[in-house]
Amino acid sequence: MLELEDAVERILEKAPPPLPEEIPLNESYGRFLARTVYSVVDLPLFDNSAMDGYAARAEDIASAHAESPVRLSVIGRAPAGEVFPGQVSPGTCVRVFTGSALPMGANAVVMQEDTRAVGEHGKEVLVLSSVKPWENIRLKGEDLKAGQELAPAGVKLTPARLGLLAACGCARVTVGRQPVVGLLATGSELREPGQTLQPGQIYDSNRILLSTLVSEAGALPKVLSLVPDTFEDTRQALVNAFEACDVVVSSGGVSVGEMDFVKRAFEEKGGLLQFWKVAIKPGRPFVFGRAGGKMFFGLPGNPVSALVTFLLLVRPALLRWQGAREVQLRKQPGVLAEPLMNPGERRHFFRVNQDAEGRAYSAGLQASHILSSLAAANGLVDVPPRTTFPEGLEVKVLTWHG
Ligand code: AMP
Ligand code: MG
Repeated sequence: MLELEDAVERILEKAPPPLPEEIPLNESYGRFLARTVYSVVDLPLFDNSAMDGYAARAEDIASAHAESPVRLSVIGRAPAGEVFPGQVSPGTCVRVFTGSALPMGANAVVMQEDTRAVGEHGKEVLVLSSVKPWENIRLKGEDLKAGQELAPAGVKLTPARLGLLAACGCARVTVGRQPVVGLLATGSELREPGQTLQPGQIYDSNRILLSTLVSEAGALPKVLSLVPDTFEDTRQALVNAFEACDVVVSSGGVSVGEMDFVKRAFEEKGGLLQFWKVAIKPGRPFVFGRAGGKMFFGLPGNPVSALVTFLLLVRPALLRWQGAREVQLRKQPGVLAEPLMNPGERRHFFRVNQDAEGRAYSAGLQASHILSSLAAANGLVDVPPRTTFPEGLEVKVLTWHG
């Protein structure tokens, strides 16, 4: 049996390099940068006021105090978005607001709260407190300088990264293309939710589960047909799927007898198939194949096994395809609120629910057909073979959201 890490490595070796595409920044949320972005501007773009107040010369008001205010004449206003055309000379100041460009000659801003307007129409102001040179001023380039890296290739474009790129005037970005991922569910017993079931039939839960995981991994899911367990249906479904998609993920039909359909059908259309037993639980035999530059993943039919094998073995490949630098699940520190016992011979990925304080509870029954505990879980804990993790143990919880 193959170790999980070896299987992941062998899959990632086969992931094609990301194809770059240039798209508008507005449409790039969640995508992975294919090229490092450098700033063409300083940020802040110019010296500007951090406060509503008066731009003045610090030396003019160095002695200002509530008991001995300094009187300045207000020579103009500089609302945000405008530049005061004149110069702040000794004894004068300019009314400014947060974000106003600092008028020439000024080297400090005194907060409005530390002043009192006097004279007609606020023509003069009493300054009640001194300010140090450059106080209340945001300096040009103190956030970052032109030429500096804004975001390296391989990172995900998050809301804050998009904000940074926009602040630097970036309107388009080069990102990795998203693979189209076709989802097939094999099993003659499967029906669509909403249909009437005959005895022995069940509803398909894997396609919605897997297609949303595909979306969360940044790729483009394409939900394909339910596939009855015959060679011809399987062959036709695979041919159609590979015509329309870059990656095909099927579920079910990987137990010994049924497996032949998938295997023969895939090989008949020129696919190179590798059939592995990966030493994890849940997750039975797992199929990985290649056809030209495309990839095929055959997951077990049990929804829990399908989810776990998808997260551990398929998700990294979909992320790498898009050029993501980080393809592993996030490992979040946690503390077990109850013991987890693995008497078996394979690593067991327990479904857990981790609360906001970091305590991780078993999410319920751990058998691979139990969907309620899967739905209650927000993480997985990897427990080695023949091992009991005691209550209170510090563990890493694998998470995949966001
Ligand atoms: P298989 O891997 O095809 O042997 O399926 C293993 C178990 O998972 C069986 O109980 C199947 O009925 C069930 N199963 C397979 N595919 C699905 C599916 N798409 N949705 C829900 N259960 C499934
Ligand atoms: Mg089946």
